Amino acid sequence: MKALVYTAPDEVIYRDEPAPALDDGEVVLKIEAVGICGSDMHAYHGHDPRRVPPMILGHEFCGTIVEGPGRGRRTTGNPLIACGVCEFCAQAATTCARTGRWSG
Ligand SMILES: [Zn+2]
Repeated sequence: MKALVYTAPDEVIYRDEPAPALDDGEVVLKIEAVGICGSDMHAYHGHDPRRVPPMILGHEFCGTIVEGPGRGRRTTGNPLIACGVCEFCAQAATTCARTGRWSG
C-alpha cells in the first residue's frame, strides 16, 4: 500500500509500504481524508524525539474499512491506543493511561 513516510527531518517520501498484519478486531482503512495538525508539523521538522524516522505520521483520518470486521463501513480512528487495564482506563480517562501510546 502507498504511504507518505517521514524519512528524515523536513523530508517525506510517498512510497510503497508492506500491508499490515492484522490482529483480531483490527481493520484496514482505505483512507479518504486526513488532517495535518501542529504536532505532525513539529515531528516533520524533527522536533519530536518520540517520532523517530522512518515512520508514517498522521493521526487524524477517516476512510472505509476494506479488511476486517465492519467491512464497507465508513469510519474514523482514535489515535490513542490505551492499555485498557489501569485505573485511568477503568474510569474512562484513557488519555491518562499508564501505558498508552499514539498512532502516527
Ligand atoms: Zn490504562
